[in-house]
Amino acid sequence: MAHPVYPKLLEPLDLGHITLKNRVLMGSMHTGLEEQVGPLKKMGAFFARRAEGGVGLIVTGGVAPNRAGWTKPLAGKLTNRWEVYKHKYCTDAVHEAGGRIAMQILHTGRYSYSPLAVAPSAIKSPISPFKPRALSNRGVKRTIRDFVTCAVRAKEAGYDGVEIMGSEGYLINQFIARKTNKRTDSWGGGYNNRIRFPIEIVRQTREAVGPEFVIIYRLSMIDLVKDGSTWEEVVELAKRIEEAGASIINTGIGWHEARVPTIGTMVPRAGFTWVTARLKGEVSIPLVTSNRINMPDVAESVLANGDADMVSMARPFLADPDWVAKAERTEPEAINTCIGCNQACLDHAFQNIRCTCLVNPFACYETELVVHPVKSKRNIAVVGAGPAGLAFSTTAAGRGHEVTLFDQADAIGGQFNMAKKVPGKEEFYETLRYYDHEIKRTGVRLNLGKKVDAGDLSSFDTVILATGVSPRKINLDGIDHPKSLSYVDVLRHGADVGGRVAIIGAGGIGFDIAEFLSHSGESTALNKDAFMAEWGVDMTYAEPGALTKPHDEPSAREITICQRKKGKLGAGLGKTTGWVHRAALKKKNVQMLAECQYTCIDDEGLHLTVAGESRVLDVDHVIICAGQVPARELAAPLEQAGIEVHLIGGADVAAELDAKRAIGQGTKLALDL
Ligand code: FAD
Ligand code: NAP
Ligand code: SF4
Repeated sequence: MAHPVYPKLLEPLDLGHITLKNRVLMGSMHTGLEEQVGPLKKMGAFFARRAEGGVGLIVTGGVAPNRAGWTKPLAGKLTNRWEVYKHKYCTDAVHEAGGRIAMQILHTGRYSYSPLAVAPSAIKSPISPFKPRALSNRGVKRTIRDFVTCAVRAKEAGYDGVEIMGSEGYLINQFIARKTNKRTDSWGGGYNNRIRFPIEIVRQTREAVGPEFVIIYRLSMIDLVKDGSTWEEVVELAKRIEEAGASIINTGIGWHEARVPTIGTMVPRAGFTWVTARLKGEVSIPLVTSNRINMPDVAESVLANGDADMVSMARPFLADPDWVAKAERTEPEAINTCIGCNQACLDHAFQNIRCTCLVNPFACYETELVVHPVKSKRNIAVVGAGPAGLAFSTTAAGRGHEVTLFDQADAIGGQFNMAKKVPGKEEFYETLRYYDHEIKRTGVRLNLGKKVDAGDLSSFDTVILATGVSPRKINLDGIDHPKSLSYVDVLRHGADVGGRVAIIGAGGIGFDIAEFLSHSGESTALNKDAFMAEWGVDMTYAEPGALTKPHDEPSAREITICQRKKGKLGAGLGKTTGWVHRAALKKKNVQMLAECQYTCIDDEGLHLTVAGESRVLDVDHVIICAGQVPARELAAPLEQAGIEVHLIGGADVAAELDAKRAIGQGTKLALDL
């Protein structure tokens, strides 16, 4: 019987030899678990947990078919019997949990971070320091054979299928696009030659694995780079890939080197499903759509609109392994939603750190972070309902402790209540909704609107101080001048800000304040058409790659953002999202000044030197975003009273604090007590 609320999403999908239990594909994500030495037990535990949560089909992170295809030296590959044995741990774990799993075969081509890199032509990519070697004709044929052998090995290892990675600007995509394929032999030149490489891979793989094995082909449906494919070419390729024997076509959006955000939190939900929708009707095998689908109502409406036959979500399964099970129970409010921050997943992958999730520190640590019921129950007070206090309280109460959570504010969330007001950070609301649900589910006693002092806490066995931070007061003449405001005045207290603004401090909050003050009207994260126009995505697909001139909306204010250190502003922002924040502010003509020494604030504005040269910024307001210091006044009196006190989040260390650390620290302490 069809599900009453999500009938399309939870409808089974018949692939002939197997039936998937629903239309949810867990998309491929590099987690770092692929590189584990020895049997892939951690990767198995990670995916098995998602299989238990009900996902229809899992696709692993990319596994290379040969050394040249490595993302980096010693990355995961599947080329020999020992590696088959390693992978078997993973497939067995998923099958025991009732799931289905396909392995992604990824050859990075010129994106490889290794001197072994190869490509159709010897053209360096802007995102790897290594210039690739052009494959010879024999090399191309050998690479095709390596893809096929890898798929056969995947079948031996127990996978239900493979995904052949043909998008995101990796090797296959490099063959297809004239931008990167300048060959003059039968693998280059006209489109028919350029697509021989993927077609041969799919055709020969199908021949080798037989009919009862899923072959997903990830097709770059919109390259978002100059000299990418035209729409007619995309359609032609899809048809030929179907003929060659693929079971499913998955959507790839944008090359990694594209200068259009495609998955960050500023991208509207389901913002790119229109691309897959264009291909509907052109092929008869199922089409999977992707990117920024994070909640069941979004996924259901994509499928109900007929944009695709299945939805792919990757990061939402880091955030919540039980995403599907919660949809089945019609409990969307219980979902720990992926907020698209990239801070603990993609940013980690790019820094060679094991992935996890900002809102779910258990992700990829399934064998290490385990929730055990408490042996001796404590009566615990938690002061501060910011991310650290929320994570601690709900985890500790979930284990069986008696937890009372205090906050002086009249709502939970701490600084997230400021973050969520920044255009492009609307998803932060979801984390607060999730914790609200968790507080009720785990039985945390919530006491809001109460500024706690040490005297209020004497009856508790243990006190957790999650009292966060106070904005740093900087030592500057005129800091109390009416023109001077802190980011808290602006974001929490809604201070009126004039048309000309200087910002002192270019960390995450300085950038967010600039974003907030430069906007008027609706956030483009909430409006797909406006977002596409802002980033120059041509929804008519008139040119190859579907790019057009971006629309630069003028800033609501004249803004100058300043830092004392030398070099690029925003250098400390997220590895994979920092460029978006910088580009967005440049588009609004926000001025960025490094090497600033601040002299004073007075009626004329902000007096400073920039690289030694005196200047006055004639502004209405100066917003101070100069970092924070811990707020932990309660610690000393509590310790003096002999109460066990633990500090977490900003109350512990304010420097370089972010919600990843706050939630991680709160969760881990709750598992230890
Ligand atoms: P806080 O969030 O500061 O919470 C502390 C709580 O304690 C507050 O609710 C306060 O009211 C309460 N409290 C204090 N004293 C008492 C008392 N005596 N009695 C009762 N209650 C008390 N981080 C990211 O990781 N990614 C981002 O993109 C991001 N964007 C941000 C954007 C903005 C505009 C801001 C301001 C912050 C952003 N952050 C971001 C930082 C992130 O919000 C903080 O790192 C995080 O909130 C710190 O959590 P915490 O629990 O330690 O403290
Ligand atoms: P921050 O990143 O530490 O930045 C503080 C800024 O103030 C820096 O530019 C610093 O640079 C300047 N500064 C420090 N001391 C100063 C002084 N005495 N006088 C003048 N300038 C001074 O802190 P934040 O921007 O407040 O952010 C707080 C935390 O929230 C960060 O750690 C960040 O991780 C998190 N956050 C993250 C995001 C995100 O998108 N990931 C967004 C917002 C916040 P100079 O010393 O060079 O001037
Ligand atoms: Fe989503 Fe952020 Fe978690 Fe990555 S770290 S899965 S983007 S919430």
